Amino acid sequence: MEYAIRYVYDPDTSEQFDAQEVFKYRELAYAFRKEFHANDQRLLCCVCDERATISLGSKGRMHFKHFPNTPDCDLKDGSYTRAERKLIEEHYANKERPRHKVLKQAIGNFLSATEGVDANSIYIDNKFLRDKREKRRPDVLCNFNGKKIAFEIQLSTLPPKYIFKRHEFYKRNEIYLVWILDDFDPNGQNQTEKDIKYLSKHQNFFFFNDASPKHSLVAQYKIGRVNRALNKHYFKWTHESIGLKDLKFDETEFQCYFVSFEEEKSKIHLEQVKEKHKDILDSLREFYTSDDERLIPKFHPAIESLDFDDLGLLEKALGLDKSNDVFLKAARSSKAYFLVYLLEKSRFNIDLSQYKDDSNTLLQAILRAPKMLFRWKIIHLIFHHGYTLTNSDRMFLKGFSFHNEMPTLRSQRIINIYAYNAIGQKMYIDWFEKITGTVYTILSAKFNRIVGHGFNNFISLANNAIHSYKTTYTFIEQAFKYYKVWDKVMAEDQKKTFFRKHEEYLADRNRSTDLQGYYVLKILFPEVFNPSGKSVEWIKLDDII
Ligand SMILES: [Zn+2]
Repeated sequence: MEYAIRYVYDPDTSEQFDAQEVFKYRELAYAFRKEFHANDQRLLCCVCDERATISLGSKGRMHFKHFPNTPDCDLKDGSYTRAERKLIEEHYANKERPRHKVLKQAIGNFLSATEGVDANSIYIDNKFLRDKREKRRPDVLCNFNGKKIAFEIQLSTLPPKYIFKRHEFYKRNEIYLVWILDDFDPNGQNQTEKDIKYLSKHQNFFFFNDASPKHSLVAQYKIGRVNRALNKHYFKWTHESIGLKDLKFDETEFQCYFVSFEEEKSKIHLEQVKEKHKDILDSLREFYTSDDERLIPKFHPAIESLDFDDLGLLEKALGLDKSNDVFLKAARSSKAYFLVYLLEKSRFNIDLSQYKDDSNTLLQAILRAPKMLFRWKIIHLIFHHGYTLTNSDRMFLKGFSFHNEMPTLRSQRIINIYAYNAIGQKMYIDWFEKITGTVYTILSAKFNRIVGHGFNNFISLANNAIHSYKTTYTFIEQAFKYYKVWDKVMAEDQKKTFFRKHEEYLADRNRSTDLQGYYVLKILFPEVFNPSGKSVEWIKLDDII
C-alpha cells in the first residue's frame, strides 16, 4: 500500500518538513519540489527513516511518499486506519519537539549516572535495532546489569495496535521496554490511557521527573488497600521515585515493574480469604495454643469442604506454603496434637523437602522438644512430607540419646530415621514400618555386628528371624548368605535348634511372602535384592553406635 506521508526530514540538516505546510501554496510547493530535485536533496520518512520523494497527484496536488521498494513502514501498513496513521505520524513529529529532546537527553544523563549502566551502551535516539521483520529506533537504549532496556517517550496519543506492536518487537528481541509517559493520567478514561493500562501486565507506568534538581524515574502503580471498618478492599494508584536498581524484571513478558499488580491482587485476595474463613483461622489458632485435640471437630469439617483454591489460600494465610516456621514453632513448644493434625489428618499440602537450614532443623527441634507426645510418629510423618536429613542432622544424631534410653532402642530409632530418609516416599515408609525387625536383622548381617536387636550372637538373631519374621525370612536367609554370616549361624547352631526350625519352615506349604516388604528391602539393600539397582550407603555403622 502506498500512502502519503505527512512528515519527512532532511538527515543532513535535521530539518523537518510538514507536507501540510510546504505544499499548502501551489507556487511554494513547486519551488520546494524544484529545489528537491535540483539539489538531489535526501528526505527521509520520519517513521522508518527510509527515503521519501515528492509525488504529484491529480489536480496538481503534491505530497510526500516512500521511495519505491523501501522496506516496511508503519505508514505503509494497510491495517491502520487513516486516523491511526495520523497519530503515529504525529508521535514521530513530536520527537523533534523541544520537550521530547530535553527528556531524551535527561534520561540519557540519568542513565550515565546510574550504577550498573554500561556508559558505552547508552544510545540516545541514534541506534537502530533490527530484526527480520522490523526496525526500531528507541528514544534511549542502555544496558543495565546485562539487561537491555529501551525507553520510549510518549507525549501523544497512539493507536493501541501500534503500542502493542512495539511491545512485541522489544519482547521478541529480549529488550525490556519502558514507556515514559509525560502526560498520563492512570485514572484517565480516554482510550489510550485504558489501552496502556491493560497492556502492561503489572500495570506499572513510568514518568521521568526532570522538574526537581535530582532527576528520577517515577513509578506509578496500584496498591491494594483494606478498609477494615467498612470491610472493603480496593486498589489505588500511588507513585514513588525510584532508580533502575528498584525495578523488577519480568523475564517472560520483558516488562519492568516496581510493584507487581498480580502480587497486590493476591495480597488482597489473601486478606479476603482471611476474612471469609475467619472462623477456621480463629479455631486453628485456639487449637495451636491449647493443643487440645477436642477442638478439631470445630474446624476440620469446614477445612474438608473448602474448594481447592480456598484451601491453597488458607495454606498461604497460615504460612504453610513458603516456610516451615509453623512446624518449627510447634515443635519447639511441643504442640504434638497440632503437628499430628497438620501432618496426618489435614488436607493441607505440606512440603518439607525444601528447607535446608542446617543448624536449626525441624527434626532436631522435634527431638529436643521436652515432653513431646507421639515424637516418633511425628518424625515418621515429616518424612511423609519430603523431609530429608541434613548434614547437621547426621552430626546431631550421632551424639543424641534420651536420658536412660536403652542402647538397642536408641539404635532402632536411629536406623528408622535413616531408613525413612533413604526410602523417601510415604507408601514405602509405611511398608518399612511393618518389617523393621527384618531390616535390623539384615543390617546386622551387613555390618557383621548385631544392631537394633539385643541378641549376643548370630544364632539367636537367626532363631528370632525364622520364628518372628516368617513372611520375610526367605530374604533374611538370602542376605545372610550374601553377607557371609550364614556359615557363622551354622557353626553356632550346636544344638541344631535352628536347623530343626529351618526344616519346619521349608516344610510349611502355607508360608507366604511379604512382597511389600521385599520392595522396601530392594531399596535398602540393592546389593542383595536388586543387583542392577544403584547401591546406596544410607547408613554407616558409626551412625548407630
Ligand atoms: Zn516510513
